[in-house]
Amino acid sequence: MFGFYNQVLKVDASRRSFEVKTISDEVLRAFLGGKGLATHLLLRYNPPRVDPLGPDNHLIFATGPANGTPIWGSSRYGVFTKSPQTGFYAESYSGGTAAEYLVRTGFDAVMIHGAGTEPVWLEVSYEGAVFHEADDLWGLDTFETEDRVRAWISENRPDNKNSDVVTIGPAGENMVSFAVIENDYWRSAGRTGVGAVMGSKKIKAIAFRGNKKKETAAPGLLRDFAKELAQNAKDDKGVQAYKNLGTPMMVDIMSKVGSFPTRYWKKGEAAHRENINAAALHQRLSVTPHACLKCFIACGRLGTVKQGRHQGLKIEGPEYETIYALGGLCEVDGIEEIAFLNDLCDRLGIDTISAGNLAAFTIEAARQQKIDYDIDYGQVDRIAGLLKDMAYRKGIGDVLARGIKAAAREWGMEDQAIHVKGLEPAGYDPRVLKGMGLAYGASDRGACHLRATFYKPELAKMIDPDQIEGKAAMFAEWEDRITLFDAMVLCRFFRDLYPWEQLGTIIKASTGLDLNRDAMRSIAAAIADNTRRFNLREGLEPEDDYLPKRFHLEALPETGKVITEEDMRRLLGDYYQARGWNERGIPPNTAA
Ligand code: SF4
Repeated sequence: MFGFYNQVLKVDASRRSFEVKTISDEVLRAFLGGKGLATHLLLRYNPPRVDPLGPDNHLIFATGPANGTPIWGSSRYGVFTKSPQTGFYAESYSGGTAAEYLVRTGFDAVMIHGAGTEPVWLEVSYEGAVFHEADDLWGLDTFETEDRVRAWISENRPDNKNSDVVTIGPAGENMVSFAVIENDYWRSAGRTGVGAVMGSKKIKAIAFRGNKKKETAAPGLLRDFAKELAQNAKDDKGVQAYKNLGTPMMVDIMSKVGSFPTRYWKKGEAAHRENINAAALHQRLSVTPHACLKCFIACGRLGTVKQGRHQGLKIEGPEYETIYALGGLCEVDGIEEIAFLNDLCDRLGIDTISAGNLAAFTIEAARQQKIDYDIDYGQVDRIAGLLKDMAYRKGIGDVLARGIKAAAREWGMEDQAIHVKGLEPAGYDPRVLKGMGLAYGASDRGACHLRATFYKPELAKMIDPDQIEGKAAMFAEWEDRITLFDAMVLCRFFRDLYPWEQLGTIIKASTGLDLNRDAMRSIAAAIADNTRRFNLREGLEPEDDYLPKRFHLEALPETGKVITEEDMRRLLGDYYQARGWNERGIPPNTAA
């Protein structure tokens, strides 16, 4: 089928072998690629209730029909598995350049199961998978690992160096439940612990290498579409804002509405905001906008700290979510200090959102004398020590490495822990942005801000943030469009540039499928049904869709706002209905 190779590489890490599986046009027409294809594969190949860190859990790297084409925002891949952090569906996406080479291997997905006894790194190309011993890489941080594998490829594959590398750090090796997979130093498939699954298979790194090119339905249309978009979008306000300020601009935007989570979700604004916002970042670091391949938005901030104890530290970041988790929840005062902790998380290979939430939770536990541990808000070096302990599972770091649910149980603080399904939320307080409450509850991977990016319509006043009635139907439409972004594997920061019509053009020009909005929504709905079925098979109950009680009971001091349990019941009920699911959130034709 146009836009695909119709081939998946199935790698067995136990036997150090591989086989090529053919994927039918019928499956690709029904679910497209990326999230759609990977969820289909997980349902088919993962045994129900599989141990996420056991050999039978599959780890899937997937791209979609837009990847490898000139379409802007298409240098992106997705990783899919069962999450060790939540016990449910896991998906995580990353930009940079790695997706370009994953596409050029000639496979729509690379699916790994089994587990070795000794560390390896994989070289994946159209010839299949080669297993290389990785004793000398085991224990290295993500940056060192990337450098070493790149150097090997350069030296040993002089005729075809076209490659990029994804790696795990020490946290992935130690199967920390929120370990990431990283590429291009600073780009991460950050959420749900996909790095721990890679570590459980004893795979330290994967180099994707190749020159394959897939056929698309209308290459000329793809080229013209991309050319025209670049010309038309140059002066777009959103594009300019991301280019000039990057995601850190959200610090001021969220603070203004009292929804910048601070002091472990006790407040909606930080007193030290001016030391951690986009202006501070651009003053205290020398910054240039940095882009993934095939992107003119360039939301990344490639910066170097100008002065002080971290002078010379080079980083792409910190992104808004990292600033909120470390600067807001942990009250770290100073963007350079956040950059320092961000760098540490990147090297260790841990997710900054979960790490910041867990550090702040530990601070609360220490303050309430639930644990005997010396740490407090804003204490950067102690927080750094705690992050290392998490990655190496030392002392209380071992409890935290198992995730927020385990730590809350162990410390008798389940009523205070903020998470949905075991995943901590991003930096949008649902007491203010009530649609984000639905987003956190309804998301297949736990409290996720990205499945619908519904903060956008609420902040842009396309819908009143306090409105409950009628919100779920609008939410479902946003979620459907973003689900198709994940099946095509496109960067969601192009969401304003790719409304339904443009998305339809991209799908048509890459795959040949001529779909109107209803037909596109049907594909998205089929994918949503499948991820739900996956979660139900793993034991999901309707209660798992609800928010932590603190969001219902504790008002934010700045605004006095809560989101009531009744609000959530209504939002979820309407959402199930909009999806065509029954009152317990079960899609039709789901096996009992
Ligand atoms: S907008 Fe940002 S994340 Fe998206 S493709 Fe561009 S640089 Fe990458």
